[in-house]
Amino acid sequence: MSERVIPLVDQRLTGRRATVPARHIAPTGLLGDALGRPLRDLRISVTDRCNFRCSYCMPKEVFDKDYPYLPHAALLSFEEITRVARQFVAHGVQKIRLTGGEPLLRKNIEILISQLAALRTMEGQPLDITLTTNGSLLARKARALRDAGLQRVTVSLDGLDDTVFRQMNDVDFPVAEVLRGIDAAREAGLGPIKVNMVVKRGTNDHEILPMARHFRGSGIVLRFIEYMDVGATNGWRMDEVLPSAQVVKRIAAELPLVQLEPSAPGETAERWGYAGADGAHDPNLGEIGVISSVTQAFCRDCNRARLSTEGKLYLCLFATEGWDLRSLVRGDLDDAGLAAAIAAIWQGRDDRYSELRSTLAPDTSGGARRVEMSYIGG
Ligand code: SAM
Ligand code: SF4
Ligand code: SF4
Repeated sequence: MSERVIPLVDQRLTGRRATVPARHIAPTGLLGDALGRPLRDLRISVTDRCNFRCSYCMPKEVFDKDYPYLPHAALLSFEEITRVARQFVAHGVQKIRLTGGEPLLRKNIEILISQLAALRTMEGQPLDITLTTNGSLLARKARALRDAGLQRVTVSLDGLDDTVFRQMNDVDFPVAEVLRGIDAAREAGLGPIKVNMVVKRGTNDHEILPMARHFRGSGIVLRFIEYMDVGATNGWRMDEVLPSAQVVKRIAAELPLVQLEPSAPGETAERWGYAGADGAHDPNLGEIGVISSVTQAFCRDCNRARLSTEGKLYLCLFATEGWDLRSLVRGDLDDAGLAAAIAAIWQGRDDRYSELRSTLAPDTSGGARRVEMSYIGG
């Protein structure tokens, strides 16, 4: 069995005190950080629990029955989440992604979705609301999610081979049930659907082509994600990362691809379209995406903030500390004060971990202070 690194510090117990600046920064929808990056994308983790134990995220050895998950009272309520989200929207957020842990484990998540769906941008536009799920409960919940106002979903699926997939989720969950969830999402009108596959060299990289063949021409966008050094518990090693360039090469050798323009600024995925007989992109065959979080940093355009399950604001996936918004929300501060505190935090943001990764001194702590992805959401 591979060696595991156990976290030395519980980052949830630390946190930075968010303060309200003396001079309020009124929301204009145009807030920029210290590097001029706008605030467009808010990821909200609604639970730190999950029914899977993917070894790259919540290894069983650490996330066992004794793991101290957050107590219910520590979680932001739906009303608190919506109030915080409203301030983010006033500062320019256009897209909200619900995540976790497994977001569909949060009871009555549809109520939160309907509250978020009622929010409007400065220009009066509805938000782009989406959710990332492991798909295990999707067959049961797709219709209610759609009725509540969810527009689309991203489903994580790391392979089609049942043995490989059961091993990767480490709770013996079958592929067929996730595929059934994807079908249900499609039938409910949750689209366009994306499927995320984390590629671990030597574990599931032989599933790249079967996955590409399966989703080609289906209307579903398959995205390959480089295995990342997030958190402190997954025992990450660079030699288990398969660079996206190789993913593209392997697929293109069998199914010709042409590179496509990015769909939006700050888009993390590089897009490749399947080519038809004339060598040009055939929209009927669809496209894939590759997310090169390790081999090609995209910090320059990073416009996303992350709100943890208990209301801490993280400015980077690799942050070691978050800003405690919950104490502001549970105090007697009004919305203008809350918005001003958020603005001050974002204006000071200069995070760019992935760009600096190769120049940083080796982390001898095994990333022990780094926050877990299941806690802040992917
Ligand atoms: N439970 C949901 C799911 O799996 O879709 C949502 C939360 S999960 C943390 C969000 C995304 O992060 C998933 O697509 C997952 O595959 C990805 N992820 C988790 N750990 C990762 C790692 N070490 N490297 C790359 N992606 C990772
Ligand atoms: Fe759960 Fe998602 Fe993490 Fe897998 S990646 S353990 S499904 S939170
Ligand atoms: Fe954004 Fe941090 Fe990832 Fe860079 S490393 S893209 S700043 S989350």
